[in-house]
Amino acid sequence: MYSKSEMLFGKAKQVIPGGVNSPVRAFKSVGGTPVFMERAKGAYMYDVDGNRYIDYINSWGPMILGHAYEPVVKAIQEYATYSTSFGAPTELETKIAELITGMVPNIDMIRMVNSGTEACMTAIRLARGYTGRNKFIKFEGCYHGHADAFLVSAGSGVATLGIQSVPGVTTAVAEDTLTAPYNNLPAVEQLIADNTNQIAAIIIEPVAGNMGCILPQPGFLEGLRQLCDANNILLIFDEVMTGFRLARGGAQELLGIRADLVTFGKIIGAGMPVGAVAGPKEIMEHLAPAGKVYQAGTLSGNPIAMIAGYTLLQTLNENPVIYQQLEEKASYLVNGLKEAFGAAGIVHSINQMGSMLSAHFTEYPIVDFSAASAANNELFKRFFHAMLDRGIYLPPSAFESWFMSNALTTEDLDETIAAAKSAMQAIK
Ligand code: PMP
Repeated sequence: MYSKSEMLFGKAKQVIPGGVNSPVRAFKSVGGTPVFMERAKGAYMYDVDGNRYIDYINSWGPMILGHAYEPVVKAIQEYATYSTSFGAPTELETKIAELITGMVPNIDMIRMVNSGTEACMTAIRLARGYTGRNKFIKFEGCYHGHADAFLVSAGSGVATLGIQSVPGVTTAVAEDTLTAPYNNLPAVEQLIADNTNQIAAIIIEPVAGNMGCILPQPGFLEGLRQLCDANNILLIFDEVMTGFRLARGGAQELLGIRADLVTFGKIIGAGMPVGAVAGPKEIMEHLAPAGKVYQAGTLSGNPIAMIAGYTLLQTLNENPVIYQQLEEKASYLVNGLKEAFGAAGIVHSINQMGSMLSAHFTEYPIVDFSAASAANNELFKRFFHAMLDRGIYLPPSAFESWFMSNALTTEDLDETIAAAKSAMQAIK
């Protein structure tokens, strides 16, 4: 069933560390061979062995309208004939900046970079430059990319591989990263009290997606906002996952909470390598060349990436009904999964917000990283493989969110629920 993937993985491991260009893809924690993909269209991906999968990763978020979305493909084809990079400004960069500042609350300006990592790295540097302070607070199990300072108590692949402390990150760098459990306001208050006038920023995934999907408890984000205001700390929403996914204006819009800086990735580039940091003019103009906080990129604002992102974002902006449809599809799936798990007598805890969700096998609510870690992740591994064998492509780790696309039909969701029922009966 996976023989060509096995052969290709064997070859890849000879020339690429671990055989992959990003760790979670390696299926390391679930075991087995990563599936090598050949092509994808709409809700489906097709591997090199000719297997078809209903996709619940969607390139870890970007493919919100499904793979190879026709208008995006056409725009890329057209723009590629003009040049794949100018290294000089284009009108398109202003147009996408205008579109985004119109969609997202509380931002006047945006700087394009090439990944979510770069976006978060820049946001922290900007917060430090703006406040003149060095430390920042992040939350256990949140992932903000692989810049040194973020690899402390990180989620996603760091959690999946069980890496406690990353070799190569110096103690001096790690010391400026303070951590608190997600949803734990008293822990944040304590850190602020212990580090008076030293904290530049609190960075958070407003809905966490890198330890499974974890929702902010009522009052938590509001409490962070108040603490930031009272202590002159910048609140950074890492909306790399949630931006343009939970709502046109992301978590800020959906949850009604203002951030001082926002980072983006994934959907903003429609699957091309793009990230961005955005905020009010007063803060953003500290970035070079307007200000002294240096940040740059040879390929930043790349025309192919910009037209891909612009085309997708315009569709989302003009069709807000997409978010309602995604929510309905996600709720339908969650109900079906609950039924499937219940029928097999498997205790479960499913978190969902909009089109992000995750299933954990435990009777306890999943509110933070330690709860996610304490769930039956061995069962998750078996569930993952049973679903894969039934043509359902889930994230290969319990510490990742599932992302749905609007290309999914009711038939796809029913097929997924039927697969979950049969998978659970097979493995329980
Ligand atoms: N922030 C969040 C919330 C993310 O989920 C990710 C990647 N999954 C990143 C930052 C880093 O983005 P990238 O992988 O594009 O560097």
